[in-house]
Amino acid sequence: MPQFLTHTDPDFETRFTALLSAKREDSVDVDDAVAAIIADVRQRGDAAVIELTSKFDRLDLTPDTLAISADEVDAEIAKVSDADRAALEMAAERIRAYHLRQLPKDESWSDDTGATLGWRWTPVSAAGLYVPGGLASYPSSVLMNAVPAKVAGVGRLAITVPTPDGIINPLVLLAARISGVDEIYRIGGAQAVAALAYGTQTIPAVDKITGPGNAFVAAAKRRVFGKVGIDMIAGPSEILVIADKHNNPAWIATDLLSQAEHDESAQSLLITDDAAFGQAVADEVEAQLKTLERTAIATPSWRDYGAIIVVKDLDQAAELSDRIAPEHLELCVEDVDALAAKITHAGAIFLGQWTPEAIGDYIGGPNHVLPTARSARFSSGLSVMDFVKRTTLAKMTPAALRAIGPNAVRLATSESLQAHGLSVQARLDHLNEPQPE
Ligand code: NAD
Repeated sequence: MPQFLTHTDPDFETRFTALLSAKREDSVDVDDAVAAIIADVRQRGDAAVIELTSKFDRLDLTPDTLAISADEVDAEIAKVSDADRAALEMAAERIRAYHLRQLPKDESWSDDTGATLGWRWTPVSAAGLYVPGGLASYPSSVLMNAVPAKVAGVGRLAITVPTPDGIINPLVLLAARISGVDEIYRIGGAQAVAALAYGTQTIPAVDKITGPGNAFVAAAKRRVFGKVGIDMIAGPSEILVIADKHNNPAWIATDLLSQAEHDESAQSLLITDDAAFGQAVADEVEAQLKTLERTAIATPSWRDYGAIIVVKDLDQAAELSDRIAPEHLELCVEDVDALAAKITHAGAIFLGQWTPEAIGDYIGGPNHVLPTARSARFSSGLSVMDFVKRTTLAKMTPAALRAIGPNAVRLATSESLQAHGLSVQARLDHLNEPQPE
């Protein structure tokens, strides 16, 4: 059974705080192994990647077979059923339409000195998307990473996906094709991240690496950050559902299990203002766990990290929700918009009983790569903004330089940066010289 907390419990605050600080991250220390793999790939390039792929994925490659050829992609995606293809196409289209609206606008204006100021946005030239493939494969992750990159205008988009024993999910390849991916490499783990960051003889380096993965992938992304950009380090999944008694307990129970089945370290929480409803949901979860295919994963997640929290009212629910800063927040209450307006910290909000979180995982439109472990307090999910960068622009006129230059000289002098001051003063002196009639 998960924890049951009620706002009237004398130790409510202590237990709630403990829930917030529960350490769910994978504690395996893989950093030394990852550092050695990255060094090896930097030194030996393809040869190291090929050796490590043979060791970890039981797949023997040559420099010519590191990439999956277009012919091979064609042959694999021919195996996809029409219904699966249509589902993936609908998802890609909806994700594309959503992300198109995120494209930021360039700005340019003249201020009262006559200076022209502004900024413009340009895409990252080349991006690498890590698609996990060790234990399962995720076509939806391909769409969620690749579509925003293409919408941003990324010129070259490469995917790495491990194919243990040479087996690949055709839907992953189809998702890559639909999203406009340019290159696909059948490699994974830290060696794939290193190859994308530093390049090898056959894999050109990229500028930004995004995408989820296991502890080796996460550690490698941390280590290559700086050489390339990265999106984020995603931890185990989380969902918080705030529901009143006017809900079907069975639906809410399944919503909680939809995150618990991801990972033994996933966290599913329910906040309700009705204790009897909370108990009904808890009973439903227990019943559904008996038949759920992934019960071996969902049961420890629910038992160890799940909780049902009974609050006095929805204001308290909103307050606790902001302290949790959940990755996914589902609101199933009568006045859902009023409750949503009170929420400040959440990766994604799903409004109303007709919006199960799983819609957002696949096909709603918003991205499913979201901040975990309370990082929604200061960060956002993956978006077009992860694949663009901003260049600022400033253009002075003589009048503008006259107006603001002297104070630049003063500030430079106060910082003892003489050349800075002189570079402005030389121009001011020229402007102050008597001009020929
Ligand atoms: P993976 O592709 O992340 O990792 C497989 C690779 O790990 C192998 O190719 C191998 O190179 C490396 N590896 C395995 N054992 C190793 C060892 N002993 N030493 C060095 N390298 C080793 O696939 P996975 O393992 O299935 O993990 C996928 C992860 O991604 C899961 O944790 C899953 O929950 C997560 N995921 C998250 C999201 C999200 O949106 N947050 C989406 C999909 C998947």
